[in-house]
Amino acid sequence: MARTLPAATGFLAAVQHGGGRSAEKVFASPEAALASAGSHAALRARPGELTLDAVLLHSGDPDAAHAHGRGHTVLLAGELYNQDELRTLLPASAQPVTDADLLLALVDRYDVHAFRLLNGRFAALVAGQGRVLLATDHAGSVPLYVSAAPGGVLAATEAKALRTAPVGRRITAARRVRRLPGTHQVPAGTVLEIGVATADCTDHRTWAPSPARRIMTEQDATEAVRQALDRAVRARTGPDTPLVVLSGGIDSSSVAALATGHRSGPIDTVSMGTDLADEFPQARVVAEHLGSAHREVTVHTDDLLRRLPHAVWAAESLDPDIIEYLLPLTALYLGLAGPGRRILTGYGADIPLGGMHREDRLPALDTALAHDMATFDGLNEMTPVLSGIAGHWSTHPFWDREVLDLLVSLESGLKRRHGRDKWVLRAAVADLLPHETVTRPKLGVHEGSGTTSSFSRLLTDAGVAAGRVHRAKELVVQHLFDRVVVDGRHPDEVAAAEVVQLVADALEPDAAPARR
Ligand code: AMP
Ligand code: MG
Repeated sequence: MARTLPAATGFLAAVQHGGGRSAEKVFASPEAALASAGSHAALRARPGELTLDAVLLHSGDPDAAHAHGRGHTVLLAGELYNQDELRTLLPASAQPVTDADLLLALVDRYDVHAFRLLNGRFAALVAGQGRVLLATDHAGSVPLYVSAAPGGVLAATEAKALRTAPVGRRITAARRVRRLPGTHQVPAGTVLEIGVATADCTDHRTWAPSPARRIMTEQDATEAVRQALDRAVRARTGPDTPLVVLSGGIDSSSVAALATGHRSGPIDTVSMGTDLADEFPQARVVAEHLGSAHREVTVHTDDLLRRLPHAVWAAESLDPDIIEYLLPLTALYLGLAGPGRRILTGYGADIPLGGMHREDRLPALDTALAHDMATFDGLNEMTPVLSGIAGHWSTHPFWDREVLDLLVSLESGLKRRHGRDKWVLRAAVADLLPHETVTRPKLGVHEGSGTTSSFSRLLTDAGVAAGRVHRAKELVVQHLFDRVVVDGRHPDEVAAAEVVQLVADALEPDAAPARR
């Protein structure tokens, strides 16, 4: 069963040949290098000829996040969800206790191919045999960055931790990070195998979305979805009362309903709204139906927009649309006081189900879906750092590997059916939720909280022409990224309003729509 929080939620690590230098010396300031909150534990290990120096971002038991043996050291940020299945691969006499131990035993047996077996939310580093393996889960949901030069490999779960790293070699298999020369992001569902002496890199793909589509009866498909999602929610429900961030839409309501089914008492739910817009009545219907202990958090729009630097700091994403989705959630997480919570969301269901797609044509639906599955990598929309900056751990059952594989692969007529979007999901949970919730049309968090319109308004008020608002948002996000990631400034010290004015002024000369 999952813990309240994973043993570690992030790390910085330096792997070098021979003696090495402590991580404190390699990284400018480990304490300030990660946005995610938590305790820091320094670690030194000598797998074979290598020296590994690391700082683990942990929640009280750092030793559960690393493992050593058979010439290897493993670091794991995050958690696995198919431990029971994985344990059947190992002898009954040698059953590992922690996820890190389990991964070490699997690497010993399968080497890099161990990562093809994992269903989890993690970033991992394995050092040994003169090389470093850097691995992400199938979705790359815990971002992982690397800078590698002959003799030393540096890795971290946040790009900003590598901003002072020596310039690394070009890794062609990985995306470069804006304005951090030599720093790359490990792709989703990939292991990068890097020789420490040479910095030569081989990439091994461990997961890819299926391009094929399965034909199933309505009944078989809804049963399969119900079962897979229920398993994913159960695997993510820890020993304490889970907290579901609830909009009252079908995705988060399904997660809340299934989580309730695994508890004897009520679960906790929380909804966020602003002075401009909220989905409070819709969420309340679900909370009352499930008997959850429900809270409503209202964030004033000015305070919401002031969190723009924090959203970019946490997500390290350059995509203005993604930042717009993540901004209200950032504000919500920062508003949740108290000890670190395990948070379940309905995030991401729309991608494999084509939920954003508001029309009936199946070819267009499948085209959009295939495109979204081919382009999610690097956007960091599932990053745990978003809630991590407030000391929480978020996890997204719809992007469980089994759930995602199933949803992606269903033929699109099961997704758009009987005039409804996400039909198969709605049918799968129809008995658990009020009818009005099951039939409620999609509303994105950026719409339900008024974030898109208030961010646009901020820009038009600063003088940006209506036709250039999206471009201006892109520039604002880039400027913010440069300050809080590249320059390493704390977001409390970055005024979003100043950046907005800077962008508005820079766009002004060609603000009029171009004439052709
Ligand atoms: P959406 O863009 O509506 O798909 O939102 C993604 C996820 O964010 C949902 O499944 C919820 O878990 C969470 N969420 C969205 N809107 C809210 C809200 N107003 N309050 C709390 N959580 C929300
Ligand atoms: Mg919604």
